[in-house]
Amino acid sequence: MDQIAYVNGSFVPLAEAKVSILDRGFLFADGIYEVAAVLDGRLVDNASHLARLKRSVGEISLALPETLERIAEIQKELVARNQLVNGMIYLEVTRGADKGRDFAFPKGTTPTLIMFTTVKDIVNAPSAKAGIGVITVPDIRWSRRDIKSVALLAQVLAKQAAAEAGAGEAWMIEDGKVTEGGSSSAFILTRDDVLVTRQNGSEILPGCTRKAVVALAEERQLRVEERAFSVEEALAAKEAFITSATLFVQPVISIDGKTIANGKPGPMTNRLREIYVDFARATAV
Ligand code: PLP
Repeated sequence: MDQIAYVNGSFVPLAEAKVSILDRGFLFADGIYEVAAVLDGRLVDNASHLARLKRSVGEISLALPETLERIAEIQKELVARNQLVNGMIYLEVTRGADKGRDFAFPKGTTPTLIMFTTVKDIVNAPSAKAGIGVITVPDIRWSRRDIKSVALLAQVLAKQAAAEAGAGEAWMIEDGKVTEGGSSSAFILTRDDVLVTRQNGSEILPGCTRKAVVALAEERQLRVEERAFSVEEALAAKEAFITSATLFVQPVISIDGKTIANGKPGPMTNRLREIYVDFARATAV
């Protein structure tokens, strides 16, 4: 079956899904994206992703071409048309295609909205059992990382460096502290069982999975501190993990080749992963 994509009001075969070379997403990275997991054919935590989409487009004064309700309908229709059971749905909205390449916002252009799906068995991913190593890289991104912008070159370079080092993710470092992963939020569990993850602010993307995991942990009386932590603190921790929509909770077992605790996924991480999977199944729509 041909993969179907959505482009500006039409469902078309992926190979025919095209936008203009003058699209501002292509020319200026003038756009916002979202990724939600699909589990058993349903969208995980999608209200949270759509709320972040609304906030991100608002921060760059980009009007969505459809209502959030309609976007959710299109997402569901695309999942159904692709008969997607487990995987993810990507959506991107850009400021559209102008007649040339002027930096200032064009007048009268319609924003571009595209979506496509990818198959992935998130629940049974082998790396969730084995854990991953991370490397550290300087955080060279701009200072509005709270906006889910498609300008991801710093993360492309960070994740390429991780791939070349045989690591699963890059943790980005600023002022001696971990900001977040290239495409994930970073957590540690300290020796006295406090779950630590950096506080939201313009230094990091407010992860939807991060938010859910913090709430689920607090509901279970786990102490959570939202603050920055250093690599030294992470190496001295009991456990570490990352979260994202397409990984859920994934154990981190080493940093720059140095193991954390016994170098195996920690019991609390595994428990939080199970709890998150249950939450995802129970709340998917
Ligand atoms: N931080 C960054 C920089 C990301 O790119 C992502 C996801 O792509 C995340 C965190 C995790 O966010 P979420 O849990 O909403 O997928």
